[in-house]
Amino acid sequence: MRVAARALEIVPSQIRRITDRAREGSLHLGLGQPDTALHPNVTAAIQNYVASGRAPYTANLGTHEARAAVAFHLGRSVDEVLITHGVEQGLALAFLGMVEPGDEVLIPDPGFPSYANLIRVAGGVPVPYPLGVDWRLDPERVLAAISPKTRVILINSPSNPTGAVHAPGDLYEVLELCTARGIRWISDEIYEDFVYDGVHASPAETHFESGVRLGGLSKSHSMMGWRIGWMVAPSATIAALKGLHQHLVTSACGASQAGLIAALEVHSEHATAMANVFLKRGEVLHAALETHGIPCPRVMGAFYHFIDVRNAAERIGGSIALAEEILEKVDVVTIPGVGFGTGGEGYLRLAYTVDEAVLADAAGRIAQVLHALD
Ligand code: PMP
Repeated sequence: MRVAARALEIVPSQIRRITDRAREGSLHLGLGQPDTALHPNVTAAIQNYVASGRAPYTANLGTHEARAAVAFHLGRSVDEVLITHGVEQGLALAFLGMVEPGDEVLIPDPGFPSYANLIRVAGGVPVPYPLGVDWRLDPERVLAAISPKTRVILINSPSNPTGAVHAPGDLYEVLELCTARGIRWISDEIYEDFVYDGVHASPAETHFESGVRLGGLSKSHSMMGWRIGWMVAPSATIAALKGLHQHLVTSACGASQAGLIAALEVHSEHATAMANVFLKRGEVLHAALETHGIPCPRVMGAFYHFIDVRNAAERIGGSIALAEEILEKVDVVTIPGVGFGTGGEGYLRLAYTVDEAVLADAAGRIAQVLHALD
């Protein structure tokens, strides 16, 4: 049966391509999904919801209680909050709701692969802006990517795949030069609780009126499968996007919204504990790689190290071939950097979402392959 071109044009994810080939005992530094358990209060809230024996539709924008919980969490008002089916759906809603056919949307290179795909689905044109030294947000490079057709910029900090946390000053400068040209922002803040060096700055703190802030609980509360998150934007924007959200998903799942309320009640203590677990793991992986003579950036944010393996990648024919070689020879799943844009070629993304012992073992194995290619 024939399907539409927009479905066929989705670029297959390198993440899935490699992880699908993993074997039973492979060491997994692939998927960015925490291995930690739900907070017991979240489990209890979802169990109570299920035990009620009812599962009604909720209001399109989310239950009042869930919206109020997010509003309180981020210091905004209820009518500025829309509950999404995870950040991924928040991105789809934002691009479909803010991009006209032919509009150019600036996306970070390297960056999360959903951005370019969803922008094309919305009829827009993704335009990569290269990140700067140490994957910093570089106002000059953003400026160079702007054209008269640029309408939106996507910001992602802490970043997937680089782990970089943008400096508030750089972010402010970029927002100033964008908003002066009528360019709106979409900020993907799914990793906002995982900042180990520096501070998390949201565009919403200084330029609230000109963009949408997306966040969720997949990472900070390990609620990946419950598919829950939020969009925060001026109330008129939320009201204007309501119809589109309604016809895309009706509403977020009711049980997940009950879980969200419980999660945000314990958020500060839980998210801090999670961040401490991942900081430690990031440091362990960093130290293990460096011990084996593989340079690794310091731990910054999210739970990724994006390591520079340009020499080895060049010798073997690119980061995809290198990730395949590492899986084949030493049974470790890593993600080729080129899967995140041409700016990521020659790099590998390592997710430190597994035990410290596994990270130390994996580092030794990766080093073995890299040294063999020296
Ligand atoms: N944005 C980024 C940068 C991500 O890494 C991910 C998940 N890997 C998402 C969005 C999607 O998050 P969610 O589970 O809330 O849809």
